[in-house]
Amino acid sequence: MSQDKPHQNLAIIGHVDHGKSTLVGRLLFETGSVPEHVIEQHREEAEEKGKGGFEFAYVMDNLAEERERGVTIDIAHQEFDTDTYYFTIVDTPGHRDFVKNMITGASQADHAVLVVAADDGVAPQTREHVFLARTLGINELIVAVNKMDLVDYSQDTYDEVVGEVRELLDQVRFDTEDAEFIPVSAFKGDNVAERSENTPWYDGNVLLEALNDLPEPSPPTDAPLRLPIQDVYTISGIGTVPVGRVETGTLNTGDNVNFQPSDVGGEVKTIEMHHEEVDYAGPGDNVGFNVRGIGKDDIRRGDVCGPADDPPTVAETFQAQIVVMQHPSVITAGYTPVFHAHTAQVACTIESLDQKLDPASGEVAEENPDFIKSGDAAVVTIRPQKPLSIEPSSEIPELGSFAIRDMGQTIAAGKVLSVNE
Ligand code: GDP
Repeated sequence: MSQDKPHQNLAIIGHVDHGKSTLVGRLLFETGSVPEHVIEQHREEAEEKGKGGFEFAYVMDNLAEERERGVTIDIAHQEFDTDTYYFTIVDTPGHRDFVKNMITGASQADHAVLVVAADDGVAPQTREHVFLARTLGINELIVAVNKMDLVDYSQDTYDEVVGEVRELLDQVRFDTEDAEFIPVSAFKGDNVAERSENTPWYDGNVLLEALNDLPEPSPPTDAPLRLPIQDVYTISGIGTVPVGRVETGTLNTGDNVNFQPSDVGGEVKTIEMHHEEVDYAGPGDNVGFNVRGIGKDDIRRGDVCGPADDPPTVAETFQAQIVVMQHPSVITAGYTPVFHAHTAQVACTIESLDQKLDPASGEVAEENPDFIKSGDAAVVTIRPQKPLSIEPSSEIPELGSFAIRDMGQTIAAGKVLSVNE
């Protein structure tokens, strides 16, 4: 993928069966971005069976088939571009590791398209995903009121659904001023790439125009360097090479850096990116680098690299706001699951349940609750069982969120409110 346009990570959220996959298929189809292997396979089949034209239905069959086979690409990590941006579709909620990936940055979304079926309106997962999107800091929302073909392109039905969604957004305090609503049919293609004659009463943007007009994600350049370490290699001729992605700030040769919680540091000698030596790297860049005096056993995955004069924070305890996605029973103080924050995985004890929040409004519903369960939002105090570098999400959002995993699944997600060093 070329780098001549800014890159946006887009999440497609919404209730099951409201048409998320179909909409992604439609976006890929309309922008000529159907994955090469799908086109290739179609060509082969067409030759064998003498089938003609490359059709939308074929794309959908193929994506559906891949999903059934459990192929990981599924609809996630598909790419398309508009005049202004390259878009990567990140995992959608419901896909197994969505919450974890989204939180740990593997698929941090900048914006989201909320799909709501016109014949069903706001449904339980519409609610859940909107709340999650807000918790995770997605601010721009495009609402695709889908399946308009099933409601005879009725403006009344559309207005009704828009009203329901607005109410939901208000409830969770989503800033709705900029939310854009579009009546579409992912299946038939109405108002996705081109204005539909079936909705003469609608004169707003079609979906691709709305995506094209999204604000640029602002790179967090004024935050200090934060570079979570993914792996540490030993490379002959160079020495120890930690690798990871620059989340915030810049890494320059000659900089004095520090790794936390390992608590070692030194001067950056070389930086390599895409197999080339560079002098500096910025947010989003994946780098390998070498630091004078640092050996392979001095640092490890889960460390965060920062400037020596503004090193990453190591938490003794921290207070966080969490949302419990799915837990078979209840969570009480003392519970010690594994926390996934950036590249670190550390067992942490939920030391106290401080406040239960109304999941819709975010207001305090109960002080010091005895337990919390699926669907609850709460403020809790957490004690890592091993040193963990983490930051308040208000200061460095990229390092201020985490997923809580237990029994092989993501059970909760959260963001750090404050850190006790
Ligand atoms: P997801 O679970 O949200 O990903 O939903 P899917 O994309 O799998 O769609 C669920 C069902 O709704 C499928 O049978 C689709 O063919 C159908 N569907 C999706 N979008 C539309 C639409 O715009 N119009 C109609 N009539 N059916 C649709």
